[in-house]
Amino acid sequence: MVDRSPSIVVVGAGVAGLAAAKKLKEYGFNDVTVLEAAENVGGRVATATLGNACVDTGAQYIHGTSEKNPVYCLLKGLLNQLPEMGEEAFYNNKGHKVNANFARRAYEHGESFIYHRGSGNSGKSLGEHYAVKTQGVIERLQEDEKARMQSVFALVGKDMLIDIGASDLHRISLDSWQYYIDMGDSVNITGFMYQLVDLLKEDFPKDRLLLKREVRTIKWDGSFPSPQNEASPEGKVRQYPVCIVCEDGEEILADHVIVTVSLGCLKAQASDLFIPSLPTEKIEVINKLCFGNIAKIFLAYEEAFWENDVGSISFIYEDDTPASISTNKMQWLKSMQSFSVLRPKERFGNVLIGWCPGEIADLVETMTDNELSAAVTDHLKMFFGPSANIPQPKSILCTKWRSNKFIKGSYTFLPVGVDGQVMDTLAQPLEGSQFPDAHLQVMFAGEATMKTLYGTVQGALLSGHREADRLAAHYKDAVASTSASMDKHV
Ligand SMILES: Cc1cc2nc3c(=O)[nH]c(=O)nc-3n(C[C@H](O)[C@H](O)[C@H](O)COP(=O)(O)OP(=O)(O)OC[C@H]3O[C@@H](n4cnc5c(N)ncnc54)[C@H](O)[C@@H]3O)c2cc1C
Repeated sequence: MVDRSPSIVVVGAGVAGLAAAKKLKEYGFNDVTVLEAAENVGGRVATATLGNACVDTGAQYIHGTSEKNPVYCLLKGLLNQLPEMGEEAFYNNKGHKVNANFARRAYEHGESFIYHRGSGNSGKSLGEHYAVKTQGVIERLQEDEKARMQSVFALVGKDMLIDIGASDLHRISLDSWQYYIDMGDSVNITGFMYQLVDLLKEDFPKDRLLLKREVRTIKWDGSFPSPQNEASPEGKVRQYPVCIVCEDGEEILADHVIVTVSLGCLKAQASDLFIPSLPTEKIEVINKLCFGNIAKIFLAYEEAFWENDVGSISFIYEDDTPASISTNKMQWLKSMQSFSVLRPKERFGNVLIGWCPGEIADLVETMTDNELSAAVTDHLKMFFGPSANIPQPKSILCTKWRSNKFIKGSYTFLPVGVDGQVMDTLAQPLEGSQFPDAHLQVMFAGEATMKTLYGTVQGALLSGHREADRLAAHYKDAVASTSASMDKHV
């Protein structure tokens, strides 16, 4: 226990970092600094301007509309402003519209195999499970029905790759969600998600939320003396176990650091970021977990070429089968089968979002706007058929999460053979060996540390709360006076 208010540094001002900082303040910790490398806070909750509208380049769905979900609790006041979702439209690669009733029923059938996976599937892949289950249905169909059904089942599998951010269903663990907490249905709150970031940061002192402060090194298990002018009244020089070095050379001393950088950043930098290096078991977990990618391509048009009531557009390849759902960079447009319409039109104009998974997302990030625009327009023409008049978009915006130096992808997924429990190892704080009293020196938060909610905004938020709670429990006497108020807060 330190004999002063502990100095706490939070690395990263994404949802996990902001939630941790907010909660620490609520607990009464008053020496909390947040260091954010980027120019803006929010991390993977981010916006961009397209025409006159703000669009979400990162998260846009609340996954779980129940009181169990703190993100829902914070944003539910907005839900009455949301538009109707709109109708689903399906087209095939021959340029024909597909009967929506048939496609929707077949789609739901395919989805049911993904949602009902059974238990005790260690070592199996989602792709293998999906191929077996769908094959069981297809075998029982009349010959002329088989291809139709298979192609919709393939669409479901390809959409699943987008949800996961992966390139191959056969690489994904069937047990991926065994520890997941079901918080209810999802809702699309596009254009509103950033309000969460505003709420999380609103009461945090601006002068302790430092932007453009990339952390280069975290030295821990040390004894770093504070400058002479910070000596105690008795003239004693304070020692801190942690020293955080920023890219510009600035050093910040701390008793605790909460690291919230993405798994992608940990994969790229873990070996350099920490001195001494992370324990082997943590490095192994960082290597084992996968960090996927998705791209959203926003396409803005003068006029809509889709029907007014349409909310989503799906493309079905008649020769696709669910046996092998994986991407192919040579045929990257085949993985661009799902578009959503930004609604309402009065707010966003005529905007479609095209979604790409895994390595296809990595690829489109490297393309120019003109290349993308031309390719996607040809693709749309093939499905809408020769009678439709598909123009080039007037503007285009493609997200670049993989090439974003401070994120390096979209979110975490579990490959075959890796149990979600490894995320508990990632979440474990580091204790120093030199000074047994200097506990909880390096702590970890972020979506990748939550086996029950990884890949979500609420997972990030709750991981930040978890680490704030951990510190509060550690200093429980010091924060006892303010803890009563904490129960009132999310
Ligand atoms: C395209 C996309 C769509 C998504 N859609 C949804 C959705 O609809 N619903 C949902 O629930 N979730 C969605 N997610 C996932 C969700 O956005 C994330 O799980 C969540 O925002 C992660 O928050 P975090 O705080 O853990 O990490 P991050 O948001 O990555 O925050 C980490 C922060 O650390 C900063 N940082 C990195 N390195 C350094 C350094 N060296 N020094 C200082 N700062 C550093 C980064 O700049 C960043 O701000 C989506 C993600 C993406 C990318």
